[in-house]
Parts: sequence; structure tokens; C-alpha cells
Amino acid sequence: MKGKIAEVFDSVQGEGLYLGEKQIFVRFYGCNLGCRFCDTKLQSFMEYEPEELFQELKLYRDKYHSISFTGGEPLLQKDFLKELLKLTHKDNFKNYLETNGVLYEELKDIIEHLDFVAMDLKLPSSTGLGGFWEEHRLFLKIAAQREVFLKTVVCKDTTEDDLREGLRLIRETAQQAILILQPDSNEDRAHMRNKIENFKALCRRERVTVCAIDQIHKAIGVK
Ligand code: SF4
Repeated sequence: MKGKIAEVFDSVQGEGLYLGEKQIFVRFYGCNLGCRFCDTKLQSFMEYEPEELFQELKLYRDKYHSISFTGGEPLLQKDFLKELLKLTHKDNFKNYLETNGVLYEELKDIIEHLDFVAMDLKLPSSTGLGGFWEEHRLFLKIAAQREVFLKTVVCKDTTEDDLREGLRLIRETAQQAILILQPDSNEDRAHMRNKIENFKALCRRERVTVCAIDQIHKAIGVK
């Protein structure tokens, strides 16, 4: 069974709750969505057997917080991912999944091999796509078996109504999960600052723990 992998490298986590932690990154090729703000345009991939990639991961020698399985969307290659997660777990690596939070059946099949789930909350007014409310709800219920937090990109078009719907979903499904607001770095900063402050206030009124964290990898010049 071969997996399509766009790149393997080590760096620091550039977003979310574990910002700044040193990780090994395994970037899976291919995605099932097409978000308007996507900056991950993957053009090529290498093919690996799970054992082959595991041996490559073992060559990284630093002390790492975890291995970030990212994409694209790693769950699109669930069978390959599962075999790889089993190998890394057995060797005492921590497994950290970055996901768009839609493929809940696939998540169910691998959840026991994960330590952290960093899930996107895809708001339709941000992505330019339809809503994934039901998929997100089912996904988050499963993800809540592990340490999970959510990230949502906030653009100039993101609406309060969408955010409110997302907050309802978090409250009903994983009350303890923290939501991270990520201002779109391509938008006007002053405008975004106001919007983020308003959105933080809304989250607090709706009793969801929130913080705003920029994506820092571009700013500090790391992958
Ligand atoms: S889910 Fe992530 S990788 Fe896929 S299109 Fe959206 S931003 Fe890009």
C-alpha cells in the first residue's frame, strides 16, 4: 500500500495551540476541498510504503513535540495513514493530525492512534464553499476522545451568523475545546483587528473559549 506524500521536513508549528513547538511534518498530497484562501498548492508527490516512510522519520534526530500529519487532507489516504500512525506510536512518537474536519468515518478508524487533533472549522462565508455543519458535528464528537482544538480562518467576508453556528456546534459537541481565530494574512490588518475583537467578544458571550493567533510561519520565514 503506497501513500502519496508531497514533502517531509522538520520545522516549528506555525499556527494553533502548539505554535512554536518543534515537529516533523508529513504533508499528504491531495485535498477534498477547495477553500478560497488555500495557500497549499501541491504540485507533486513521492510514493512511500508505510514502513519506508517510518524509517525516514526515524532519521530525524532532534527532540520533537510530535509528528504533524498535515496536507492537503491526510484522511483521504486513511489506510496508509493508519499503518504509519501505528508504527510511529509504537516507537513513542506523538501523533498530531491537522485536518479539515469533514471525513468523520475515516477519523473513527484511526482515532485510537492519535494524540492531538487540530481541526479546521470551515465557515462557508470564509471558504466560498457550502457548509459542513453535520460533517463537523460528527467529526468533533469523535475527535473529542483526544486532545482537540479548532481553528477557523477569518476573512473580510466571514459572517457573524456563520461564526454563531460554529459556536453552537462546539458548545453542543465538545464544550471544552478551544477555538482559535486566524485572521487571513492577505486582508487589511486594521480591518481584521476590529473584526477579530468583535468575534472574540461574540465567542465569549456564547461561552466558547477563544483566542486569536496569526499564522506565523510566513512572518518568520519558516515552512
Ligand atoms: S482544506 Fe486546507 S488544504 Fe484543503 S483546500 Fe482548504 S485550506 Fe487548502
